[in-house]
Amino acid sequence: MRLLIMGPPGAGKGTQSAIIGEHYRIPAISTGNIFRLAITNRTPLGERIKRIISEGGYVPDSLTLKVVVSRLNEPDAADGWLLDGFPRTARQVNALDAELAKDGAALDAVVSITADEEAIIHRMLKRAEIEGRPDDNEETIRNRMEVYHEQTDPLLDIYRERGMLVEVDGMGTVDEVSARVLAALAERLGR
Ligand code: ADP
Repeated sequence: MRLLIMGPPGAGKGTQSAIIGEHYRIPAISTGNIFRLAITNRTPLGERIKRIISEGGYVPDSLTLKVVVSRLNEPDAADGWLLDGFPRTARQVNALDAELAKDGAALDAVVSITADEEAIIHRMLKRAEIEGRPDDNEETIRNRMEVYHEQTDPLLDIYRERGMLVEVDGMGTVDEVSARVLAALAERLGR
């Protein structure tokens, strides 16, 4: 099973990915988490990207692609995965296509979590108080939203045209949304 989960920042992709990953027994791979861990551990990658992330910009494709390709080549990802937060740019879409083609593999579905923008900005500001993510302040959140609209939202059309998009309303409680996601995937995938 090879899945993507897409949607605006703060739509709850991370939470839903963990639930989907557990359900289908595939690793949920979040580029945001990988980057945050690198920053916490002060690795060379972390040092290069911490400023970009704290300002809400995108990490350059070259770095992101290295990280993702190497993660997809780990043994636990051999038979499937769920990618959360990747692809985010047109170049990343193309690189993922190329990576899949190498293995003669294909995506099974792309989950798109939709959400009301003002509601998620509010939710992220609340999360900022609880988790203290350095990129969860209002200015950065607005910037992340803008970058998302410019670079990532248009990518949904690519997957829609391929007939792969499974759109799910992301408003509501975690349980309500996960029930919707799993039902929509079951209908699409037949399992
Ligand atoms: P959110 O979806 O809430 O914005 P993520 O955890 O997915 O948060 O990502 C956090 C940050 O990590 C992004 O704002 C961006 O700076 C960086 N990032 C994550 N994934 C990518 C990617 N595929 N390409 C470029 N930058 C990325």
